[in-house]
Amino acid sequence: MAAPAAESGPCECKSDMASVKAVSSAFPLALRIVAECPVSKARACVLTLPHGSVNTPVFMPVGTQGTMKGITAEQLEQLDCRICLGNTYHLGMRPGPELIEKANGLHGFMNWKRNLLTDSGGFQMVSLVELSEVTEEGVLFRSPYDGKEILLTPEQSVGIQNSLGSDIMMQLDDVVSSTVTGPRVEEAMRRSVRWLDRCISANKNPHRQNLFAIIQGGLNAELRRACLDEMTKRDVPGFAIGGLSGGEEKDDFWKMVTLSTDHLPREKPRYLMGVGYAVDLVVCVALGCDMFDCVFPTRTARFGSALVPWGSLQIKQKQYAKDFQPIDPECECPTCERHSRAYLHALFKSDTAAMHHITIHNISYQLTLMRSVRRSIVEQRFPEFVRSFMRRMFPCGEPYPSWAVEALASVDIALD
Ligand SMILES: [Zn+2]
Repeated sequence: MAAPAAESGPCECKSDMASVKAVSSAFPLALRIVAECPVSKARACVLTLPHGSVNTPVFMPVGTQGTMKGITAEQLEQLDCRICLGNTYHLGMRPGPELIEKANGLHGFMNWKRNLLTDSGGFQMVSLVELSEVTEEGVLFRSPYDGKEILLTPEQSVGIQNSLGSDIMMQLDDVVSSTVTGPRVEEAMRRSVRWLDRCISANKNPHRQNLFAIIQGGLNAELRRACLDEMTKRDVPGFAIGGLSGGEEKDDFWKMVTLSTDHLPREKPRYLMGVGYAVDLVVCVALGCDMFDCVFPTRTARFGSALVPWGSLQIKQKQYAKDFQPIDPECECPTCERHSRAYLHALFKSDTAAMHHITIHNISYQLTLMRSVRRSIVEQRFPEFVRSFMRRMFPCGEPYPSWAVEALASVDIALD
């Protein structure tokens, strides 16, 4: 067995950009591959960014308007979260990029000293599709705040993200729902390539802010490959796999993920957008992805759903009214250290504080899961980790989802 490489210790935290070989000397980013699974495509890396190092695989919690819903920047820091997301679309609307720039960017505005990733605002096109119209120039939409028409161009998206000062910025892409088929998918993919070039030219801070490309092409393997061919010709510090996790069949989903990681350069980070269910995370790590984000853990917390190694626990259910155990007896988060299921059950009826406690637990669950995944890769026992994770998630002979079985088999991990 290979000797486990050093886990994140104080020495790694101190490592500055100069001491690590960067992807390209031009980028404020370096990816060091610490260990690779000898069986699957899983890998454990240290991603060094302007606001410190991040161990990957990593889950990045999503924030809106500079505050995590139900959690503060300080609490995220206590959970040892090293990178989180800010929504460009929301922040660009209110309070606006000028104000945030005055507050020393989003880091200063949020009082967050670690890394930030901002999206392009493009994803909101799908969610606000009735409000938007895409042209070659950009996305035209009506502000939900004051009804004014706004044109979001690739240049403006990068301009806003430059004002926010995020460590990783996302290109503006032409997003179509993953269930759309036909010529619109190719049009959106080709346009996303053209917009990538406009975003690269528009970046005013290439030495301080990393711009990631987003691979599109829907569920069409040929289009995905064409997009990968084009985008990997560009000199960008990292790649995202986009346009998935939007209601498509899981069989299509994992095939597009694995096709993408097969064609992405080994030495650059791979970010799978919008994925956050525990099973999906573990499978997609096996397929070679490094970074993930999703609103799911925070959104589901607001409905009283707590994430646990055996699925989820609905705190509102009667059976927890007199249950004095923590949500998960093995969890070391501040919520599980202090509060019982019975207390949270009672609190949920009267107070939003219960949502806040469950949000902290859920984010902690995601971060802890990814740390365990990473440790297993470093210690060269990832396939066994996957098997025991799945056994726990689907107990008592409950069948495994067939897509997960197939996806894992494609990288030589057989479930028992
Ligand atoms: Zn907990």
